[in-house]
Amino acid sequence: MKIGFIGLGIMGRPMALNLLNGGHQLAVWARRAESMQPLLDAGARGAASPAALAGGVDLVISMVADAPDVEQVMLGERGVASAGKAGLVAVDMSTIRPAAARSIAARLLEQGIDFLDAPVSGGEVGAVAGTLSIMVGGSAAAFERARPAFASIGRNIVHVGESGAGQVAKAANQIVTGVGVLTVAEALNFAARSGVDPARVREALLGGFAYSRILENHGQRMLDRDFRPGFKSWMHQKDMNIVMQSAHELGLCLPVSAATAQMYNAMVGSGLGEEDSIAVLKLLERLSGAAS
Ligand code: NAP
Repeated sequence: MKIGFIGLGIMGRPMALNLLNGGHQLAVWARRAESMQPLLDAGARGAASPAALAGGVDLVISMVADAPDVEQVMLGERGVASAGKAGLVAVDMSTIRPAAARSIAARLLEQGIDFLDAPVSGGEVGAVAGTLSIMVGGSAAAFERARPAFASIGRNIVHVGESGAGQVAKAANQIVTGVGVLTVAEALNFAARSGVDPARVREALLGGFAYSRILENHGQRMLDRDFRPGFKSWMHQKDMNIVMQSAHELGLCLPVSAATAQMYNAMVGSGLGEEDSIAVLKLLERLSGAAS
């Protein structure tokens, strides 16, 4: 199918490449021209703006940062909606607030554009491998139209419910992964400060109930002290803020998420925002008196 892709960062670039490899006709737009080059080299067509992109395709996908960015590329000046292409399906795969996704969906529908919120889990590794978990909110008809695109970039593709439901699932995902990364960092720091090899501790834990993909993948990267992003800490702060804002709106008690959100606030305040979220280990080390 003819697909337009907006936002070619850590996640967007490999996702767009997998759409090309899946046999789709791909047009791309990125605000920095150099971000487009790898896709143009691989056979995609470049567009001058989101509106120009939308004019020639059946489906537009955005993978940007936060809600204001999605609003800008979908509804802003020279945004997708300004192409005036009723019948288009627009899919946002960034992680944003559920309420913002519902609001964008309503405003696009006024222009005859169906909107799906379809955030992902699986990280850069999953984006490269085309094995992302995709959680989708919106109408069943739009979901069916977008399914061939989802099939090229993901493996576990779930239509969760109406508009915003995909982002609710993603916020729930970030509760589990945000808390998970922090607990793995705590466990490895605990082992090291107790004078025991954290690598051997991780190895022992992998065989029991403490096993998790996070202990396996993120735990190994913590041991390697490989803090290159991956998933930037400021993005994880954004996601924990989404969780806490939703909890505030609903009057919910989320004590473990609240503590985790504070740690990601401190990551950004400590100048670790551009490092991978596993750098929360460094923060714990500093708080535990290690010199670094
Ligand atoms: P990233 O590497 O920073 O890429 C974001 C891209 O969006 C950048 O290329 C950026 O363009 C573009 N962008 C941001 N705001 C824009 C705007 N207003 N207009 C046009 N382009 C804009 O981030 P990422 O890691 O790919 O994450 C993208 C989204 O996926 C985020 O919502 C994140 O929470 C989510 N996510 C990330 C992961 C992960 O492991 N990385 C996993 C699951 C979900 P520039 O290059 O010009 O800055």
